Amino acid sequence: MKNHAHDTPSPTHSDAEVTQLLRDAGQRVTKLRVAVYRTLLDAEQPLSHPEVQHRLESNIASPVDRVSLYRNLEWLVDIGLAHRITADDRVWRFSARRLEQSNQHPHFHCVSCGQVFCLPESTVSTPTLPKDYSVIEMELVVNGVCAHCGKNKTPH
Ligand SMILES: [Zn+2]
Ligand SMILES: [Zn+2]
Repeated sequence: MKNHAHDTPSPTHSDAEVTQLLRDAGQRVTKLRVAVYRTLLDAEQPLSHPEVQHRLESNIASPVDRVSLYRNLEWLVDIGLAHRITADDRVWRFSARRLEQSNQHPHFHCVSCGQVFCLPESTVSTPTLPKDYSVIEMELVVNGVCAHCGKNKTPH
């Protein structure tokens, strides 16, 4: 008998939990802020703006203004609760920052399904910089084929 465990368990967060996380970060709490942050926390991988919008609208069962959503995503990045990733498809993706992650972990972009995944940071090393240069941000995106697409060799 096969067991019935899910392949990818996705933890879900309650509004109360997310509200507390925002308060702990010293932020003013609004309904949309909680909903947006919760969507990122519950996602198993980074989401593009339209993906966040889609999930958010089905969670709260009402339409969300594109621009306000974008402002809220930017705000989460600014205060350090989320990070933004650009893959070579030039789509911004957003992901909640997990406690165990630093700013600078690499990402994997699957060229077949287009999904982006966070990778553990242990594999990144900062290049040696010329004298008096300083790093603000470093982004490493690995392009390749994810396990799922590798198994299903039929092209999309
Ligand atoms: Zn894939
Ligand atoms: Zn990431």
